Formats: sequence, C-alpha cells, structure tokens
Amino acid sequence: MSLEEYQKLRDFKKSPEPEGSIKQAGMNIFAVHEHDASHLHYDLRLGMGGVLRSWAVPKKPPEKAGVRRLAIKTEDHPLEYADFEGTIPEGMYGAGNVRIWDKGEFILEKESEDELLFELKGKKLTGKYALIKTKFKGKDSWLFFKRK
Ligand code: MN
Repeated sequence: MSLEEYQKLRDFKKSPEPEGSIKQAGMNIFAVHEHDASHLHYDLRLGMGGVLRSWAVPKKPPEKAGVRRLAIKTEDHPLEYADFEGTIPEGMYGAGNVRIWDKGEFILEKESEDELLFELKGKKLTGKYALIKTKFKGKDSWLFFKRK
C-alpha cells in the first residue's frame, strides 16, 4: 500500500484534495464519489490496509443484482479522501466536481489476487458485492457487481 502515485499526480498547493498519509483505520469504510471530470464516472473506494483502494466505474454502480459494471483499478487514495467533496481546478489531474454519491461501512469477506468479496452498508449500495479481475480491456480491469 502506497500513496506515492496519488501524491505524485497532484499539486496540493492548487488542488483542494487531501495530501493524506497511511493510517490504520478503525471501522472499515467505503465511499463512492461521483466525479464530473472529462467524462462523468463513479469512483469506488474501499478502506483496506490504511488506504482507500480505488476503482473508476464508468457507469452508475449497481444497486441491484444482475448488472455488471466495468471497474478500472486506479491509484490508492488516503483514507480522508472518503470525506472529500469539492472542485479540482482546471488543468489539474482529475479536474472537475467531486461529490460523495454513497458512503458507509465496508466488510471484507474474502480477498485474493483476482477476487474481492465484501458487504457494503451504504445508503444506495447495500448487501453483498464482488470485484472480480477480468482480462477484458487490459490488466487493471475488474467487474463490479452485486451478488444474489
Ligand atoms: Mn475519478
């Protein structure tokens, strides 16, 4: 777990985003940001190992079983990013509006190299979910869906 890539991509003198540090979390949290950047997308963030592991989801995350969403792994974010909302200035990495779309408790059930099984207790996303690595569209592609 490292925030090196996250910090390298940003200029914290110009961006309102938190610089952050790796912390040991109490309760595990998740957050989904609606990010109105060059393309509107959703950023799924799971509190694991003192950081928020992150995936960019191009379409709205599934609230019901039966819908699979592509999720592209992105750089780990600091835990305090779960509370971040604001506008990343023009010309900066990820420029655009960021708001919290959902947030709540995250309970990890199973973790392996290519599979994460977990429960989410948010307002929109509740129940048992999975992230499964897929070969579709390159090495950082996962499928995100609600389990039956
Ligand atoms: Mn984003």
